[in-house]
Order: sequence, then structure tokens, then C-alpha cells
Amino acid sequence: MIYFDNAATTKLNKEVLKGFNDLNLKFFANSASTHKLGIEAYRLEEKARSQIASLLNCEPNEIIFTSGATEANNLAIKGSALKYKNRGNHIITSKVEHPSVLNAFKSLEEDFGFHVTYLDVNNDGIVELESLKNAIRNDTILVSLMAVNNEVGSINPIKDIGELLRKYPKILFHCDATQAIGKIKIDYSNVDLLSMSSHKIHGFKGSGLLLKRKNIDLLPLLSGGGQEFNYRSGTNNYVYEVCLAKTLRISFEELENNYNYVKHLNDYLRSKLEGLNVRINSPKISSPYILSLSLDKKASVVSEALSLKDIYVSTKSACSSKKSPTSYVLLAMGKSSQDAMNAIRISFSNENTKEEIDIFIKELKEILNTLK
Ligand code: PMP
Repeated sequence: MIYFDNAATTKLNKEVLKGFNDLNLKFFANSASTHKLGIEAYRLEEKARSQIASLLNCEPNEIIFTSGATEANNLAIKGSALKYKNRGNHIITSKVEHPSVLNAFKSLEEDFGFHVTYLDVNNDGIVELESLKNAIRNDTILVSLMAVNNEVGSINPIKDIGELLRKYPKILFHCDATQAIGKIKIDYSNVDLLSMSSHKIHGFKGSGLLLKRKNIDLLPLLSGGGQEFNYRSGTNNYVYEVCLAKTLRISFEELENNYNYVKHLNDYLRSKLEGLNVRINSPKISSPYILSLSLDKKASVVSEALSLKDIYVSTKSACSSKKSPTSYVLLAMGKSSQDAMNAIRISFSNENTKEEIDIFIKELKEILNTLK
């Protein structure tokens, strides 16, 4: 099997899995219970929170555990816009965000009457500082921009955007860092709200977090027992939180090695694609973990044919590939509608090899020839 769909999700790390059953069976109590077993679970949870906080350079009470990045994005965006709506009615995002961001903005626009600016991106899929600057109004209260795009791997200048937004104390800056955390180095020091997901870095599905600076308040999406500092009620899955701490630690320790290795794979794949009838959509400078390319053949047919050979890639991103066949990300980057309809995404992990790329290229060539 060749798995080139790591931007959709990754294989669970065996080290992370180790101890999962033991922890669940031994300390199964509710971490909010006040008896000894509950306190034990609470201690483990808080230890995990502190470890994560030191990795992310923040304070433990700035970490809100969630079910993943979709929830973290919704909590950050809806929670902050609704909390601070008395300060202004205008919010900004870009046209190439993940659906969990775009649809949160749509809901604020359609259901709550906010005015939304959806920023254009340049041909590399990047938000230009100037266009953000021009979009800011007196009543702007929130800007949400992703660190790394999940379809093409474009990297936004998060540090510069954060620096610009510091000049506007009323504006909160949310960053969806799901495809960046543990994979590429980015300076998040000027970000107010940051989302990430465990399963993109070999952790569990259904686990993630929102980093929320302590001076910021949010309207919670879930009301209940007041867990997670009142921002996310519901019995905590503390074992996931312990596992998330381990997942993050491993990905941070290995970040540089993995980055260099995957960059090498990406460069190799790009060189092997030369001479084939494909167009690479990912910019030259982008996350090496993701490579998008457009074909002259129907992408869904090519991806199915690859799948029959046990080679797994995505058409666009997993979250939108079952809906419209056209990629709104590629359209926003100025690609033709034909290219936006016929793109496949190859996404790597440190477990992939050059040999796998050789097999992929051989099979891709064969498929493209038979489809002639
Ligand atoms: N944002 C981005 C950029 C993503 O790639 C994803 C995963 N497809 C999400 C958010 C949603 O993450 P989760 O699956 O944890 O809800």
C-alpha cells in the first residue's frame, strides 16, 4: 500500500497508542470527580495541559481541548465574533480557508448579520498583506487566516499578519494551524487564537485544541458542566489529552528531520513529474507535505484507478472531494476551471519513501496512457 493522503489524516503513531488502553482501563474516572480516582485522572490531564502549553509557548489555562480543528475553528470564530459583536460587525477571512472556517463565517453572515470580507489570494494561494490592510475597517473585530493551505500547501505570512494586526487592538487574529503545527516552523507569537488537530500529526482522530490567549473571552458553543474553563462543556477525554501531549512532543522533536526528509521527497516527486502532462499547482515555496497537480484527465477517474492499485491520493481535500468536483482554492489562485476540476493532492508523511514515488509515477504514467 502507498498512502499519499496524509493531509486528510495520518496513521496513528505506535508510541502514542502505547499506554492508551492501560490509561483508559486504569484511570477511567471522570477527571471532574472529586474522589481519588477522579483526582488522579485530573492530575494526568493537567500534566498533559502543561506539557502542551510549554510546547506551544503559552500558559496551561490558555489551552482548550476540543474534538479537533473543526470544533476549535468554530469556537474561535463564532465564539469571539458573538462575544465581541458590540465592538463591531465586520469580520475577515480568505477565499481559500478550510470549510470549517468558511462555513462558520457563512453562518455568522447569514444567521447573525455580520459583514464578511472574503480576501482574494495571489497566484501562489497567499493572502497579501496589502489586501488585508485595505479590507480593515473601523468596525472590524476578527481576522481568521490559515497558516498552511490544506489543498496546495501555500504558507501565509502569519508573523507579518500578526504584526500588522497588533496595530488594531480591537481585532482578534485567529489562525487555523492544522496543516502547520508539528510540520513546519511558524511564529505564532502574535496570534490570539490558534486551532490544531491531533490526527494530522499521527495522533487520534476526534482530538485537538484551541489555544486562546487569556485576555480574550469567547461565547461557548456548548453549555453544560463548565469544563475547559467554561469554554467547552462535556466530560473530558483526558486520555486523548495525554495522547495529544505525546503526539505534539514527538512531532516537535522530529520536526526538523521530518521537514528535511519530506522536502527531499517533494523535490524528488517534482523532478519525476517533469515531462508528464501535468501542471503543479503548489507554489515552489510551500509546505513540502502537500503537492497538488492538475491533469488533462478526469481526476476522480485517475484517483480511482490509483486506488485500485493500492495507491491513495485525494482529489482536492478529503473534506470537499465528495461535493463539487471543482476546487474553490485553485479557482481563487487563478487556475482554469479545467485545472480546478481535475486536481489530485499528494500528501506525505515521514513514512513515505522515494521508492513509493517511483511506483506512483510508473502507475500514473500507465493510467494516463490507458485513458488516452
Ligand atoms: N483545518 C484544516 C486546514 C484542515 O486541513 C482540517 C482537516 N481536514 C481541518 C481544519 C479540520 O480538522 P478536524 O478533522 O480535526 O476537524
